[in-house]
Amino acid sequence: MIRHGASGQLLVPRKPALPVSWVRSTPLKIIDAVAIDSENYRKGVFDPAESARWKFELGFNVEHFSLAVKAYERLRGLKEVLEDYLRETHKRGLRVFVYLNVHWADVSQLKAHPDWFQVDYSGKVIDDVYGRGLMPCVNSPGWRESSYSLMEEVAELGPDGIFLDGPVFHVRGCYCRWCKGAFEERYRIEPPRKGELADPRHPQLVGFQKESLASYMRGAYEVVKRVNPEVAVYMNGQPPGPAWATGRDNEILSRYQDLVGAEGGFEYYNLFETPVFKPGLTAKLLEAQAPEKPRVVFIAANHRPWCREVLTPAELLNRCAQALANGAFYWIGITWWSGKLAEAVRRANSWVDAAGDLLVGTRDASSVAIYWSQSTCDYYGGEVPVSDFTGETKRVARDYLKSVYGAYEMLLRLGIPFKLATSPRQLDGVEVLIVPNAAYLSDEETEGLGDFVEKGGVLVASFETGLYGPEGLRGNFALADLFGADYVRSHYYGTYENYMTAWGEWYPATARLLEVKPSTAEPLGYYSVNTGGWYQPVELSSMPSLLRNAYGKGLVFYFTGNFFKTYHAYRFSSYLNLLRRVLGERCRSPVELEGSSSYVEAELRAKGGKLLLHLVNHTSALSRPMLELVPVHLKVRVKGGYRVESIVGRAAKVEARSGATELELTLGDYALFALEA
Ligand SMILES: [Zn+2]
Repeated sequence: MIRHGASGQLLVPRKPALPVSWVRSTPLKIIDAVAIDSENYRKGVFDPAESARWKFELGFNVEHFSLAVKAYERLRGLKEVLEDYLRETHKRGLRVFVYLNVHWADVSQLKAHPDWFQVDYSGKVIDDVYGRGLMPCVNSPGWRESSYSLMEEVAELGPDGIFLDGPVFHVRGCYCRWCKGAFEERYRIEPPRKGELADPRHPQLVGFQKESLASYMRGAYEVVKRVNPEVAVYMNGQPPGPAWATGRDNEILSRYQDLVGAEGGFEYYNLFETPVFKPGLTAKLLEAQAPEKPRVVFIAANHRPWCREVLTPAELLNRCAQALANGAFYWIGITWWSGKLAEAVRRANSWVDAAGDLLVGTRDASSVAIYWSQSTCDYYGGEVPVSDFTGETKRVARDYLKSVYGAYEMLLRLGIPFKLATSPRQLDGVEVLIVPNAAYLSDEETEGLGDFVEKGGVLVASFETGLYGPEGLRGNFALADLFGADYVRSHYYGTYENYMTAWGEWYPATARLLEVKPSTAEPLGYYSVNTGGWYQPVELSSMPSLLRNAYGKGLVFYFTGNFFKTYHAYRFSSYLNLLRRVLGERCRSPVELEGSSSYVEAELRAKGGKLLLHLVNHTSALSRPMLELVPVHLKVRVKGGYRVESIVGRAAKVEARSGATELELTLGDYALFALEA
C-alpha cells in the first residue's frame, strides 16, 4: 500500500521490538477510573488502599491511572501518592499504566506557551477542543521537550506502563509555524486546506502528519525505555476509518508501542448509526495492523458523550465479548459509578479468568478475509466517525467505510468467521477475499491480489475497486484482467424501483453502478433499464450486474454496483442469499450456524494445537442501546472431528456427525469452546 500517497517520503521503521514481558504474557482486564480517582483526589478523599481494593474486587488486573486529567497539572499529585498507591496495587497483582493526556490543554496555557498549540488554516490557534481547550502540536519543539521530560519523570516513579491519550492532529490543524515550515521545506509547496481530499496536495499533508506523529512516538518510546525498558508504552490509536483527520497510522505507530489500542467501544449519540460490531471490527483491524503486539479495545462504559449515562449491562457485555472473540483484550472506562454495572463487569472479567492463557498470543484461524484499504479511506473519501478527537461526524460524498460495514455485517449474519487483511501479504490461509469497493489500489496491491487469485484464491470485489491509484483516476480497473472486464462509464440510478438479476433471480438494484465491457468474464445477470420511478415496466439492459471470471487457478466475482454499501443502507435479505451463493461456489465455511432468528457472531482462532470457537450473541430486541440480549438456541457445525472443552458457557450436546462436530447450545451473551483434534 502507498502509505504516504505521492509524497515519496516513506518512513522506514526499525524492526519492532518485542513487547515487554508482562504485557506479552498477561490476559489483560483493564479499568480506567481516572475521572473518579481525580475527582476524589480533588476533593481530598482519594484513598490509595480503597481505590486499589475496589478495582481488584471488580476483577481487574491492569489499570490506567492518574490524578490529573490534564498533563499540565504535572506530577504534583501523582508524586505525592504514586508510591503508596503502587504498593497497594502491586499487593493485589494490579498493574498500573500512568495515564498522560497529550492532546488537550486549558486555554490558560496559551499565554505561557504561545507556540505549543495547533493552528487552523487561517492562522488562528484552535481553542475549541471539547468546546473549549487547546491541542498541543507534536512538531512544536517546546511542547515536545516538555512532554518528553514529563514521561521521563513518570517512568522514574516506577509504574508498569505509560499510556498516552493522544497524540493527534486536530481535524482543522495544524498550520503552526513549525508544521508549515517543515512541510514547505520538504515539499516546496504550501500545505493544502485539510479535508479537501480532491486537492492533489492532500496526500502529502496526510503523509506529513502521519510521519510527524510517528517521529513523536518514537521519541516518547525511547525516552521511557532509557529510564526502564520494562515500562510498557502505548497510545490511543486510530479506530477504523479515515486517518487523514488525526494523522495516526497504527501500523507505523505500533513499532513504538508495546501494545496497541483504539476506541472501538466508544459509541455516540444515536447508537443505531454505529454498527453493533464496531468493537469487533476495531479488534480485527488492530490485529491486521499490529499482529505481533497485544491489542486492546477501549470501551467507554457510558453512552457518549454523556459520561453519567451508564451503559446497559447488555451493551457492555456484548462489546467485551467482541473484543475477546476477535483476539483483543478490553479496557473499560468508568466515568461514573453507581454500582449498576458491577455484575456485568465481574462477569466479563470472569470470562477472561476462565480462558486465561487461551486468550494470549492467539491467531486468527478463519479462511475468509475482508480487505481493508487504509489508502481508500484516506484518499478516496469517507465519513470520519465522531470521536472525542474529531468532535463531530465529518460526512463526505464518497463513503468507503459503509461498503466495509456492509460486507462485515453480511459475513456476521451468514455466521462466517473472518479476519481483516490490510495487505496481500496477509493472505496466507485465506481462501476467499472480499474487497468491498477498495477504490484506491497501489500497483503493489494489484500485483499481490493477482497472485492470490492466480494461486487459487476466490476474490469477491465490488464497484470502483481499483479504479484509482497513486496518480488518481486510472481510466480502467487496476484489476481489469482479474475482473475479465473493462471500465466504460459510471451510472447513477437513484433510489427508484430498479432491479438487477443474478442466476435468474431478481434483486433490488444498487443506486450506483459501473457499466463495463466483459472480455473474458461471464455475466451472471444484468441491471434493468433505469425506470426513473415506481410501478414502471421493468426491462433488462445489457449492463452486467455480476461477473464471474476464472483467472489462473482462482475465481473472481465482481459486482459492478455498490453492492455492499447498498446492503448497509437497506439490509435486503435477498442480498444475503446472493452473497451466500457467491461464496458457496468454491468454498464451504469451516463453521456453520443454524438458528434462524439469531444474530450470532462466530469467530475461529487458534492457540497451539487448539482451535478456539467464540460465539457472540448480538440478538437484541431491536434496541440500541441493547436493553437485553435475547438468548438464542443454536446449532454450530464445525468441519472436522474434535474433542470439545467448554471454557465459557456450556454446550448442551456435542455430537460427531458426518465429518463434523456439532454443538447445540443456548447462547446468552458469549461462549468460548476449545476444540482439539
Ligand atoms: Zn503544528
